[in-house]
Amino acid sequence: MDYYSGLYDSLEKVKASRTRRKAQQIPKLTPGEKQSLLEEYHPDYRVSGFREVRLGQNKGEMAPRELAELLEAPSRLKGIPLDLAHPHHRVDVLVIGGGGGGSAAALTAREAGANVLLATKLRHGDSNTIMAEGGIGAATRPDDSPAIHYVDTIRGGRFVNVPDLVRALVTDAPRVVEWLERLGVLFDRVEDASPTPRPAIPGLAPTPAGT
Ligand SMILES: Cc1cc2nc3c(=O)[nH]c(=O)nc-3n(C[C@H](O)[C@H](O)[C@H](O)COP(=O)(O)OP(=O)(O)OC[C@H]3O[C@@H](n4cnc5c(N)ncnc54)[C@H](O)[C@@H]3O)c2cc1C
Repeated sequence: MDYYSGLYDSLEKVKASRTRRKAQQIPKLTPGEKQSLLEEYHPDYRVSGFREVRLGQNKGEMAPRELAELLEAPSRLKGIPLDLAHPHHRVDVLVIGGGGGGSAAALTAREAGANVLLATKLRHGDSNTIMAEGGIGAATRPDDSPAIHYVDTIRGGRFVNVPDLVRALVTDAPRVVEWLERLGVLFDRVEDASPTPRPAIPGLAPTPAGT
């Protein structure tokens, strides 16, 4: 059976069962049933997949077995002679991590005249930053403002955010987007070429403009 005929067979089965499936009432799981399903199948919930960490900063905490083993593993530098009196590099700023945060820190320090070394465990850019695709939180549209972004963020954080940090975030964000665009970062745009709206916070209606 080739791939396409198989696919059409499946489509026919979906079509044939559509009316029955539309009428079907699937009973909702109770919270207890959900919990036991998670405990049976989800690796983050299976008690047997966890154990106590025996050493270090996380001593006494429960962690997935593989992580606990990693945290307790001997240092990879053990046995390698280190001559701290004669370092290979002398720099003003050492940045560890080459995602968006580290790269921005390194560029900013360099722009300010510092001699910078960026060390990262994978290739430069291999990071969570390159996986982000849902949107960037910055008030860049005329119907938006740092004040609205502030209110959205405080509401989204259920009023436990640190207000000064939120203020810094919402005030810096549009400038950071401009800076990134000057560096050549291409952000998605809507039809009239204006920036895309800020991503909505799940479960939260946006704060109206003019607030
Ligand atoms: C799938 C996905 C989608 C996302 N979507 C969005 C989105 O739409 N909008 C949004 O705002 N956010 C999103 N996020 C979150 C966002 O990507 C992160 O918050 C952000 O990228 C964090 O940036 P960072 O520079 O702090 O960390 P990272 O980008 O993770 O960079 C960390 C860097 O440190 C390096 N590193 C780690 N440990 C070591 C070590 N021991 N030694 C040396 N180097 C080390 C890593 O290799 C990496 O280069 C998403 C995240 C994921 C995973």
